[in-house]
Amino acid sequence: MSKRIFLPILLVVLFLLLFFALTNSEVLYSQIEGDAKETLRTSMQTFKDDYSSADIGAEEISSLLGVGVCFLDKEFKVTDVSDERFAPSESDIKKIKISFDGGSSIYVSDSDEKGHSYVNICESTDNKIVKFTVEIFSRTEVYISMIPSLVIYVCIGVLLSLILSLIVTSFVIKHVKELALNAIGNDKHIDAKYVELKPIADVINLKNEHVRNAQKSKDEFISNVTHEMNTPLTSIHGFAELIASGSLPASKTQSAGKTIAAQSERLGAMIKQILNYSAIDDDLLTPYDVDISILTKEVLNNFEPMLKDKNITLLRDIEDGVIVKSRHERITEILDNLVSNAIKYNKQNGKITVTVRNKMLIVDDTGIGISQDELKHIFSRFYTVNKSHGENMGFGLGLPIVKKLCDKSGWKLYVDSTPGEGTTFRIDFSE
Ligand code: ADP
Repeated sequence: MSKRIFLPILLVVLFLLLFFALTNSEVLYSQIEGDAKETLRTSMQTFKDDYSSADIGAEEISSLLGVGVCFLDKEFKVTDVSDERFAPSESDIKKIKISFDGGSSIYVSDSDEKGHSYVNICESTDNKIVKFTVEIFSRTEVYISMIPSLVIYVCIGVLLSLILSLIVTSFVIKHVKELALNAIGNDKHIDAKYVELKPIADVINLKNEHVRNAQKSKDEFISNVTHEMNTPLTSIHGFAELIASGSLPASKTQSAGKTIAAQSERLGAMIKQILNYSAIDDDLLTPYDVDISILTKEVLNNFEPMLKDKNITLLRDIEDGVIVKSRHERITEILDNLVSNAIKYNKQNGKITVTVRNKMLIVDDTGIGISQDELKHIFSRFYTVNKSHGENMGFGLGLPIVKKLCDKSGWKLYVDSTPGEGTTFRIDFSE
């Protein structure tokens, strides 16, 4: 991470250093040029005041005034020069002619082959043209002179960028670590110190809430399972102990055996339902086309004995060829739970209508019905309206299984009930 922060900081630092080096060089060059022009003006004034009338050669004037000196006639022909370097070139003469305003001209010569620049001043006197020259650093030389200090500044810049990126990284990491530490097993809401870290805090809070809910739901599930299992187990254990101790009269042994068998069966059925319920989440088997018209007819036949016990009339309104993408065992599970409930919670001589039409399954009964208050809870695990857990009563896992299967497949599940009149469960398979 520090590497990612280091690079942009370094780039900005280098850009700023380069920018300041260039502007500094330019300012320095203008300063040098300005100073040279000032020196030339002063020297020219001294010459005009003190030496213009005297017959002194260019070389002598040059050593007196400390500038390069060249005398030219009015046709711009060199008549005397202190050093050949100060003789005007063709282009210089053109420059002098163009800028020779009021008999005076000040200009900068192009750099010579050695890269030197020259600042010149020309003045016309009575009989000649006087040209003074000062050699200055060329722009390139000024830029080159900046390189050693630039290298030092770049090194300092790299070092500073490195330190800065380490500070920034450790600062950011410190708060991210703080958040991460708070995230572990935290029941409280986490607040981010900085607005930039708020999205991370939000995700952690959401995750923590999910974990808490999952934990709560797991705890509830375990407590319900143990509670539900306790009743048949206590009954089995009690009767078994009585038989083992020999204190149970022989006349009651048969009924005790029947109770043990019934409670074991109930326990087995409950374990099967718990396993079924848990298995839905892990079920990754591929769905295929299921003809629910045929399957419903088959499943309903299995309920004949139960229906007879209560003398319930079963009406079938099944349209042929209703196909749903699912698996046989899933649809069977749904039908088993809905139809067995419709029988269990029906009245003697009641009626059940099972409809399969328009991609819908409807199980309607004329049973005891469910109150509006209870309706809100019937899909919760281990919820049973009648808490007596009588012999025929279930454990409250049938409808949660149906709901979970529907949710997993994206089907809509509706329930409508009137106490004393009956209940209708409807599954809409269309996605
Ligand atoms: P159970 O195994 O107890 O039947 P379910 O999850 O299938 O568990 O149903 C939960 C509760 O909803 C039942 O205890 C019952 O009171 C109520 N219930 C379910 N189906 C019907 C129905 N068709 N008519 C009346 N009550 C029903």
